[in-house]
Amino acid sequence: MEPVEWIWMNGEFVPWDDAQVHVLTHALHYGYGVFEGIRAYETRNGRVAALRLSDHMLRLRRSGKAYHIDIPYSQQQLVEATKELIRRNHMKSGYIRPLAYSGYGEMGLNPLNSEIDVSIAAWPWGLYLGEEGIKQGVRASISSYRRLDHNIAPPAAKVSGNYVNSILAKIEATQAGFDEAIMLNSNGFVADGTSQNLFIVRDRVVYTPPLHAGCLEGITRDCAIRIARDLGYEVRETDLVRTDLFLADEAFLTGTAAEIVPIREVSGYELGEPGPATKKIQEVFFAAIKGELAAYSPWLEYV
Ligand code: PMP
Repeated sequence: MEPVEWIWMNGEFVPWDDAQVHVLTHALHYGYGVFEGIRAYETRNGRVAALRLSDHMLRLRRSGKAYHIDIPYSQQQLVEATKELIRRNHMKSGYIRPLAYSGYGEMGLNPLNSEIDVSIAAWPWGLYLGEEGIKQGVRASISSYRRLDHNIAPPAAKVSGNYVNSILAKIEATQAGFDEAIMLNSNGFVADGTSQNLFIVRDRVVYTPPLHAGCLEGITRDCAIRIARDLGYEVRETDLVRTDLFLADEAFLTGTAAEIVPIREVSGYELGEPGPATKKIQEVFFAAIKGELAAYSPWLEYV
């Protein structure tokens, strides 16, 4: 991790090395926090823009609401704090990590008497699944770990503790030599990757699991759906089973960290080189985030 100068903590800018918490911080023990992952890009005209920053801050507040975490800052305050943070750190591009969590003061499971602390950090972060992954595609495996269920721990929110589930799947996949894991829900339908949504293409139709499958309502997923439709593809949100992945003409992952990454193999089933739909959607996405396409300029929130 490449440190920068400032981190925003509870309304103040503190030096990177001073952004510390107490070991008895409630969230460290129980994972009771919600977070976001956002990317900022240097656009064609040299200005820095955070991609769909307001949508991410809205999702942060909604994640909090689903888990009774009352974030003491409005969406607009969080957006402004992020822009100021990027400016102060003189960043041209990078990853932004807002986090709202139960702080120090009370222990025990009931968090409702704990203060909710909020921080926003940003740092330079390159490609999550590597240059080769973006170009040639990644190898994914179906995880033996199931995605969390709506009636166990709602997976529609980005809750810190829920990511232990993703971490187990990621370790299992990488230890077996794969790049990424694909998680099924408890009914055997495809949910998503450990931190990406999943798409397949078959006979020129683009499919992605519906939100009820237990995937996150990904913001890059939404970008990919819009781009695919604008390119003339039919996009269907429908339940998928593992065989749909094995028999797909193309498959790809979408996520803020990963961006848009082709899948070239699923658990030993070869899908091959990135296909035409994947490549076209990738191409439009990468042009959009550089500010090269007017149709998608509302996605860019200049700092
Ligand atoms: N699914 C999960 C489980 C995730 O953690 C993420 C990353 N936030 C995504 C999908 C992709 O969402 P987004 O495109 O908004 O980053």
